Amino acid sequence: MPELPEVQTVVNGLNKKIKNLLIMDVWSDYNSTYYLGKNNIKDISFFKKFKKNILNKKIIKAERRAKNILIHLSNKKTIIIHLKMTGHFLYGDYVFDKREKTFILNKTNKNKFLTDKFNQFIHFAITFNNGKVLALSDMRKFASITLIDTKLVKDFFKKNGPEPFGLKLSNLNFKKFKNGKIKTVLMNPEFIAGIGNIYSDEILWQVGIHPEERVKNISDKKLKEILKFAQKILKSSIEIGGDSMSDFRNIDGKRGEFQNKHKCYRLENTICKKKNCDGILEKKIVGGRVARFCLKHQKKLC
Ligand SMILES: [Zn+2]
Repeated sequence: MPELPEVQTVVNGLNKKIKNLLIMDVWSDYNSTYYLGKNNIKDISFFKKFKKNILNKKIIKAERRAKNILIHLSNKKTIIIHLKMTGHFLYGDYVFDKREKTFILNKTNKNKFLTDKFNQFIHFAITFNNGKVLALSDMRKFASITLIDTKLVKDFFKKNGPEPFGLKLSNLNFKKFKNGKIKTVLMNPEFIAGIGNIYSDEILWQVGIHPEERVKNISDKKLKEILKFAQKILKSSIEIGGDSMSDFRNIDGKRGEFQNKHKCYRLENTICKKKNCDGILEKKIVGGRVARFCLKHQKKLC
């Protein structure tokens, strides 16, 4: 599932490619009766309203809030997209194919990355006035798309925890989460925004804290290190285009490179990469998610 660095990679790509373009058409085959009455384009009547509101509007810019992509439009409306499990945007030469009943790459396409098999599950597409298309490939079809007034964006995310960058320890609500297991707490969007399974594992490996350690047992010094490494690791992943161990691709269809930098994520049963540590990496279910950690340098404190 895309986490903060992957979503930021998408947003950076959108700001390079779609700013100031006009929306000429929008298409989706996400419709599902399960979403009836919900503010989601998967509800066919919401999609009709969505379409009416965004046609002929200009893209002002894209932004990220937590793991959401925000696309601000010239009519003071904002499209909010959550990529969920397998969603990723692609920008290029696409056409609607009547037989396939979806968007496919046009003959004019010269970008070989767009032909990657994970980029062929198009369920949503915006056509711009330059003839290019912003398509959403989403194998599992879990992504969600809605539209709100831009002035309501802050309120929309009021339950979300703070963004990790520029954050101080005192901005985090440790009191509320003191009894929680640190990995679960780091992944809780109400505690801090944008961290999921990959980055929580990598952060705790760096700091040497067991994923099941209760927050209240961790010293302020170690909590500071957790925040410091959270910022450092997320930033370093953004710089190399995010993590593509699974199906994430940037808007040009290309993989990121963070999967080559993993110290523990999906490395169970291998020898720890930490200097002077010969521990074996283990995997264990923590709070319903698979945690990977070193038995030797991430021992439980109590
Ligand atoms: Zn180790």
